[in-house]
Amino acid sequence: MQTFDIAIIGGGMIGLTLAVGLSGQGFNIAVLDTSEPDPKWFNTDESVAPAARVSAISLASEQIFRHCQVWEQIAEKRVCSYQNMDVKEQDSFAHIHFSHEQVHQPALGHIVENERIRAALWDKAKACDDITLIAPAQINKVHMQGSTNIIQLENDSLISARLLVGADGGRSKIRQQAGFPVTFWDYGQHAIVATVKTQEAHNETARQVFTQSGPLAFLPMWKPNLCSIVWSQEVEQADALMAMSDDAFSKVLASTFDMQLGTCELITPRQRFPLRMQYARQWVSEGVVVIGDAAHTIHPLAGQGANLGLLDAAALAETLIELKQQEKDIGAWANLRAFERWRKSEASHMIASMEAFKQLFSGNNPLKKLVRGVGMSVSNALPGFKQNVILRAMGIKGELPQMAQPLSRHHG
Ligand SMILES: Cc1cc2nc3c(=O)[nH]c(=O)nc-3n(C[C@H](O)[C@H](O)[C@H](O)COP(=O)(O)OP(=O)(O)OC[C@H]3O[C@@H](n4cnc5c(N)ncnc54)[C@H](O)[C@@H]3O)c2cc1C
Repeated sequence: MQTFDIAIIGGGMIGLTLAVGLSGQGFNIAVLDTSEPDPKWFNTDESVAPAARVSAISLASEQIFRHCQVWEQIAEKRVCSYQNMDVKEQDSFAHIHFSHEQVHQPALGHIVENERIRAALWDKAKACDDITLIAPAQINKVHMQGSTNIIQLENDSLISARLLVGADGGRSKIRQQAGFPVTFWDYGQHAIVATVKTQEAHNETARQVFTQSGPLAFLPMWKPNLCSIVWSQEVEQADALMAMSDDAFSKVLASTFDMQLGTCELITPRQRFPLRMQYARQWVSEGVVVIGDAAHTIHPLAGQGANLGLLDAAALAETLIELKQQEKDIGAWANLRAFERWRKSEASHMIASMEAFKQLFSGNNPLKKLVRGVGMSVSNALPGFKQNVILRAMGIKGELPQMAQPLSRHHG
């Protein structure tokens, strides 16, 4: 039996960030995942085709990656730092524009391929003496026994840990086995993602158009004419879009986007993801905690799911380090309750904002459209309002863990 202080189930972006954030603090940590990153993402060059899955990484998440000493590797190549954000409504005068100058920052955020982030974190974790990466790992059973948890793998090896962290995504086994109840609703939409080549350059601007049946985002990638699209559509429309030929899809895509970047050409296959809001009503029990998508999944319209999860990881790392310094039990339910209250409040705030946004932009009622148009034009002229929205999206508003704050603030 291998014994650890902390066993993190799920070596995705969130679980690995927690492990690296905890390294060097006297813990003995295991990270288990069903698979390692594909080797091509470790030293990616131009011959590697663009990945369809990307994330808009906020300034707060960038700070967390800097703290984990992986940002340099991530930002070295294949990253677009975007300066502007444009939000429009299809067939309407409604328009709102955000710029990095409004918040006195060099950029509003960065668009990065998910697998490159995971590979950089994996590399870092592998180099840490106090982290053991166990992959591929297939969990057979988890015995949650209060004071110690025991994980039995398919190959019959046993792992014990005082604290079990479920960072195993939206269908979390750890959350299910801990019996944490979940509130959920189906957004009734599927997101279609793909990478496209556009006729015109994106000019480091992230663009989003709200259509009657869901939002369509063009996220700028590292080449001037390369964008990642996230097109959330009601299920029937998504079925029809997935059934089209590449050519037909590209034409509908460009016209739905009002030809803002001219014609489009698909350069990766389309993938689709059913969208569901999910929120665990309990995140913590004796010896168990869930973070990231295991605790919450939200609509991708504002690109905040991973950013929210990275803040969970940073907040949990901060909590566990403090408990260790105070010689308190890192697995005691009572000691983890403050973390749970802190992050549940931030996540529920984000879920409510996403819902308000989605409701505001759904439907084609002419009066609702007029109100939206006027509202967006007025908001566009209000610098205070815009600044508030953008600071939230950049993750630099709200109660931030230290790891998410600029390094100079906590390193003196
Ligand atoms: C279309 C779309 C676009 C998005 N765009 C953005 C964006 O722009 N910005 C943003 O911030 N967020 C975005 N998100 C959300 C973001 O992708 C997720 O919030 C994020 O990936 C969650 O990370 P995670 O590590 O919690 O979960 P996951 O990425 O699901 O990782 C879970 C890990 O656990 C492992 N695992 C699962 N089960 C087990 C098991 N039983 N044993 C061992 N390992 C296991 C998996 O292999 C995986 O590595 C988007 C989501 C979608 C659907």
